[in-house]
Amino acid sequence: MDFDLTREHKMIRDMCRDFSQEVIAPRAEEIERTGEYPYDIINHMARLGMMGIPIPEEYGGCGGDWVGMHLCIEEISRADATFGALLDVTTSVVAQELHAFGTEEQKRKWLVPIARGEKIGAFGLTEPDAGSDAGSIRTTATLNGQDWVIRGRKQFVTNIGLNNANVILIAALTKKAIQRGRISTFIVPKDSPGFILGKRYEKIGWHGSATHEVIFDDCRVPEDNLLGDPSKGFSQHLTVLQTGRISIAAIAVGVAQACLDHSLRYSKERIQFGKPIASYQTIQFKLADMSVAVDLARTQYLKAAWLKDQGRKHAFEATSAKLFASEMVERVASDAVQIHGGYGYMMEYPVSRYYTGAKVLQIVEGTSEVMRIILARELGLPS
Ligand SMILES: Cc1cc2nc3c(=O)[nH]c(=O)nc-3n(C[C@H](O)[C@H](O)[C@H](O)COP(=O)(O)OP(=O)(O)OC[C@H]3O[C@@H](n4cnc5c(N)ncnc54)[C@H](O)[C@@H]3O)c2cc1C
Repeated sequence: MDFDLTREHKMIRDMCRDFSQEVIAPRAEEIERTGEYPYDIINHMARLGMMGIPIPEEYGGCGGDWVGMHLCIEEISRADATFGALLDVTTSVVAQELHAFGTEEQKRKWLVPIARGEKIGAFGLTEPDAGSDAGSIRTTATLNGQDWVIRGRKQFVTNIGLNNANVILIAALTKKAIQRGRISTFIVPKDSPGFILGKRYEKIGWHGSATHEVIFDDCRVPEDNLLGDPSKGFSQHLTVLQTGRISIAAIAVGVAQACLDHSLRYSKERIQFGKPIASYQTIQFKLADMSVAVDLARTQYLKAAWLKDQGRKHAFEATSAKLFASEMVERVASDAVQIHGGYGYMMEYPVSRYYTGAKVLQIVEGTSEVMRIILARELGLPS
């Protein structure tokens, strides 16, 4: 057994760490406060190849692997989780689904610009009445001549509000599929007739993440925009969401590591009762527990990513990585605020942003409850 990262993995990690700390970290508080979409940083990430790490070079990517991708997501999230979320959706979910299930023509047209980061992808499964129960979506797609006509709405769509987001992959019921209770996947360009970008959500954190509602008002897309097997759209989504769960775990580890870094530094500087608070055992034990939690969660997501790279089954590992890391980061972020005392509640201290941003990791890409349901199924328990 070898726990060492390869030379390539170390290079990716170090490059992303430097970028994250030098370029993103100094801007993160301002982005959270103003809610601006930082196109310059996104374009810089694209130029460094971050959106295409695991995608083959012939399709605009770097020809790397999923371990490398997730090291990148962790390091980027260490400065600001919203950039990790952007990478999760555009690469782990959208680029992967196009690569795994697209035709050669679809890959050339849609995957290449996304893998290069020139365009950003979005993903729409959740609807007002279909969240955890994603199989109960109501959006429909009907073939009319040479076009699919899509009716319905998707909510909480990450990335879609960005000007350079050009496409959303959506799940919809087709007529044939309705009869068989199945779901198909469609590539819907943002400039399609009948595509309406709905309201921007006002979130309690992640203000730099472009989360919008999307409405399909008899939205027309060419017949060729069906992605993959029309009767397997749902299972295609579930396949890529498994990787998305590893990505959420990597985001959580990045945020938790940042909480630990800031808390270590602050606790050595902050003097109370004549001594640095780091000298008090209560603070030391908090820091020791935080370091154990971060290390375990990192080992777990890397194992899941490694199994995926080996082409091996990783449903249990990806799900448990997501569950453990997202629950862990909420505790770690809370402890980080506690260690900072009143200052930890102030916007100018990064731990306040990590605290408000940590909660959502227990919800996106499947809630903690859903993760436990999947794990129970993996354990062969009756449903
Ligand atoms: C910031 C943000 C970004 C997002 N980005 C995207 C995106 O890009 N694309 C996309 O498609 N979706 C996105 N989502 C949606 C996200 O995946 C859903 O919010 C999530 O799957 C939960 O669905 P829901 O919100 O409808 O909650 P519900 O499913 O209504 O759940 C409510 C509560 O009930 C629990 N629950 C539900 N069913 C069960 C059960 N059977 N047993 C036990 N407990 C249960 C849940 O765990 C939860 O605690 C995003 C959400 C947020 C907040």
